[in-house]
Amino acid sequence: MQIVKTKGHLIYSANQGSPTHACLGSCQKVWWPDDIPSDIAVLAKPVCPQCGGVLTCDIPPGYYSVISDDAGVLQKGGAMIKNVGLNLGK
Ligand SMILES: [Zn+2]
Repeated sequence: MQIVKTKGHLIYSANQGSPTHACLGSCQKVWWPDDIPSDIAVLAKPVCPQCGGVLTCDIPPGYYSVISDDAGVLQKGGAMIKNVGLNLGK
């Protein structure tokens, strides 16, 4: 479990490693490979699972910061929470 901060969001993710995609749309979250549907059509032109905005694999420097990369495991109702965005406003 890691906690990553982007503009307006705290993201709790069960994914390991650095995010691979950044949303350039309205939510501006970052995403990991597991978050992106592995459909060929989607991979060719990925869109944000949350807001439908354009995703870029070329994450701009400073787009996010890692708050913690070892935050333990967050569980809710027995299911692991994956990439839950906390909206902090803009
Ligand atoms: Zn988005």
